Amino acid sequence: MNNFSIAIHGGAGTLVKGLMTAELEAEYKLALKIARDKGYEVLESGGSALDAVEVAVNLLEDTPLFNAGKGAVFTNEGTHEMDASIMEGNTLEAGAVSLVTGIKNPVSLARDVMEKSYHVFLAGDGAMQFAKGLGYQIESPEYFYDEVRYKQWQGIKDSDNFQLDHSVKKDGKFGTVGAVACDKEGNIAAATSTGGMTNKKWGRVGDSPMVGAGVYANNKTCAVSCTGSGEFFIRGVVAYDVSCLMEHKGLSLEDASNEVIHERILKINGDGGLIAVDAQGNIAMPFNTEGMYRAFKTSKGDENIFIYKD
Ligand code: ASP
Repeated sequence: MNNFSIAIHGGAGTLVKGLMTAELEAEYKLALKIARDKGYEVLESGGSALDAVEVAVNLLEDTPLFNAGKGAVFTNEGTHEMDASIMEGNTLEAGAVSLVTGIKNPVSLARDVMEKSYHVFLAGDGAMQFAKGLGYQIESPEYFYDEVRYKQWQGIKDSDNFQLDHSVKKDGKFGTVGAVACDKEGNIAAATSTGGMTNKKWGRVGDSPMVGAGVYANNKTCAVSCTGSGEFFIRGVVAYDVSCLMEHKGLSLEDASNEVIHERILKINGDGGLIAVDAQGNIAMPFNTEGMYRAFKTSKGDENIFIYKD
């Protein structure tokens, strides 16, 4: 039997330790623990890495603590436009959606695109038609409302600024969520889900739903889910870059992940982090920001939940 493992993130960005209350920190850690452990249970009972990452991301989407699903940030028009993706490393199959509204679990819609359509990436109205055709319930805007996100939007809505929900305001909440997993068969998978950036407009889409940028999985190398300023992660083709360094330069998961986050993406001023797993169940979780909500658990008995650089 292969070693199996799961890692999840709830966004990377600026977070000053002193501004976080003990209660809030405990809430975040509990939400991360629940999502990680449910994903791990799937693996432990012989389930696939693909199922494990979907289960974990669904739970993170369901909590308003993170900028994905419930609690997604506000666009310039006061709406929620969500992006999500999922990829399986054995077959290289992938599914993604962007600019969807009213969908409780965008990552599950991304999986449906992968499994129930001929396509990889559906956007906007078309993605919504596809969801409705499959019988998805459309939630009202109230379902997604979160007061902190609303205040963040109110602070910049009359400007041309847009921001990561977790990087400019030091008391802001972290955001985008993701999961990577390796199952008992040695198959790996990755998923990412986000509300994007506060006050975004013009149909802005970040890296999260883009295969190669915010998500990637290939059994030969690694499964990766990213978080950070999406524009830089798109330009850096970050998730695929980790895979390329492993495949073409022979780097380990850890070295490839560190090189991308601490060298290559920094050279173009990209801020953020990623979580990655390989087909032996090894995990890497580098970030070049002050913190990244993250947790992992392996069949070797290692587990932890972190927020800062500890
Ligand atoms: N990468 C996401 C985006 O640019 C944001 C985030 O990671 O929080 O849409």
